[in-house]
Amino acid sequence: MKANTNHLGAPQYDELIKTIHELLQTRRDCTCGRLHQTSTRQVIIASGALNQLPTAVTELQLTGKALLVADANTYQAAGRQAEDVLTQAGSTTTRLLLEPEPGQREVEATDEPVQTVQQEAAGCDYLIAVGSGTINDIVKLASTRLKIPYLAVATAASMTGYSSGIAAIRSGAIKQTLPAAPPVAIVADIDIIASAPIQMQAAGVGDLVSRSLSSTDWKLSSLLRGDYFCPWIAQTVDQADQQCRAVATDISQGGPGALSVLTAGLILAGIAMKMAETSAPGSGGGHLISHYWDMTAPASGRTRNLHGLQVALGDLICAALYEKLWPRLAEIDLDKVVANRPCAEEFAAQTYQHYASLIGPEAAQQVTQAALSKYAEGEQLYNQLAPVVAEPNQVWQKLSPLFSSAAQLRRIYQQAGIPCTATALGISKADLDNAYRFASRFRDRYTILDLACDLGLLEELREEVFADAQVAR
Ligand SMILES: [Zn+2]
Ligand SMILES: [Zn+2]
Repeated sequence: MKANTNHLGAPQYDELIKTIHELLQTRRDCTCGRLHQTSTRQVIIASGALNQLPTAVTELQLTGKALLVADANTYQAAGRQAEDVLTQAGSTTTRLLLEPEPGQREVEATDEPVQTVQQEAAGCDYLIAVGSGTINDIVKLASTRLKIPYLAVATAASMTGYSSGIAAIRSGAIKQTLPAAPPVAIVADIDIIASAPIQMQAAGVGDLVSRSLSSTDWKLSSLLRGDYFCPWIAQTVDQADQQCRAVATDISQGGPGALSVLTAGLILAGIAMKMAETSAPGSGGGHLISHYWDMTAPASGRTRNLHGLQVALGDLICAALYEKLWPRLAEIDLDKVVANRPCAEEFAAQTYQHYASLIGPEAAQQVTQAALSKYAEGEQLYNQLAPVVAEPNQVWQKLSPLFSSAAQLRRIYQQAGIPCTATALGISKADLDNAYRFASRFRDRYTILDLACDLGLLEELREEVFADAQVAR
C-alpha cells in the first residue's frame, strides 16, 4: 500500500496525497455505523508516472496476461506508451481498442462495450483501463463482473470516477450508477494529463467543486428523511474541494502543480465516495440535472457535454434554489401544502407523460417508479417537512458549513474557465426548464429540487432561480 509523493511545487498537493496515503490504509469502524475502506492499493501521481506502471504491476503481484483497453484517442495519448513500458518490463499485454457506435463520434459507456471487454478478456488475469470517464467506467464494470483486478491509467483530470465504487453506465435509455470495484492502482502521469484538452480540466474542477452542493443535499436528506449521512466522509470530500478551489486559476493555465492538486483532489473525493458506499457525497441535484441532459440529449438533438461542465451549471441552479427557498420557509402553511399536494397517481401520470416522449415508454415507467418511491403525501409529507418549516434557521445552521452560494461557485468557475450559461453548452431554455422540473424524478435520491417540489414552490421560484443563477443566457 503506497501513494507516491512528488514535488510539483503545490503545498495543497502534499496535503492531499498525504490524506490519500492514509485512506488507502484505513479500515475505519465509523460512528456513522459503516466500515470505511477501499480496495485501491496504489495511487501514483507524478510527472512521468507512466514509467512506474511495471513497478506497480510487480508490487501488486499481478502476473499473467493483461488486456489493455483504450479508444483511438486515449491509445494515442497514453496507451501505446503504457504498452511499450510493460512489454519492455516483460509483461504480456493484448490490446482492445473500443470504437464508437455507428454514427457516434465517441465511445459511450453502455452495456455493449462492457460486454465486449468481458468477452475479449477471456484468459486474461487483469485489465488496464487507459482513459478517463468513459473507458474507466466500462472497464471498472467489466472487471467487477469478471472478478479480476484492473489498473487505471488516467488521461485527463476530468471527473471523480477513477477511484469511486460506482460505474455510470447507460442501460437502454436510463443512466445508471452501478456498484463496481475501484482499480487496484491508479497511475496519473501529469505530463499526459497536461496535454489533454483544457476543457477536460475545467470539467474536473466542476465535478470536484460539486462536492459542496452534493454534501448539502446529502445532509438535507438525512435531516428530513433520516437517510444515512457520515460527517467524516463529508469532511474528507470538502478537503479535496477546498484545496482545488485554492488553485482554480492555475488549473485553467495548465500548470503542472495545479493539475497535480486537481488530480489528487478528484482521486481523494472518489475514494471517500467508495468508502461511504453511496454516491450521495458526490451526486446531488446538480448531478441529476446533468444526467437528465445526458438521457434526453438524443431526443432533443443535442450533443452531450462533459459531465463536470453540465454538473457545474446544475449546481448553480441548485445553489440559487437553496438561497431563494430558505427565506420562504418561515411563511409556509404546512396544512395547506399537504392539502394542495397532487395525489400520487397524478404525479406519476405527469412524470410518465414527460419522460415517455423523450426516452420511450419502458424507461419512462422505470423513472416513474423511482419518482414514486420518494413521493410523500398526507401525514408522511407533513412529518417530513415539519422540522424544516418549524425551525428553518436551525436546519440551515447544519447545512451552511457544507453549502456554497451561486456567487461563490460562479467565481470559482470563472477562474477555472468553466462556461456558466446554458447557451455556452448548447442547452435551450426549454431544456433548462425541463431539467429543473423533472431531473429529480429519475432517481430516489432526495435533493433541494425535491424539497422545493414537496413545498409546492418549485415552479413558482423557477424564473427567480434562473435569474440569480444567471444561467438562462
Ligand atoms: Zn462514517
Ligand atoms: Zn460527478
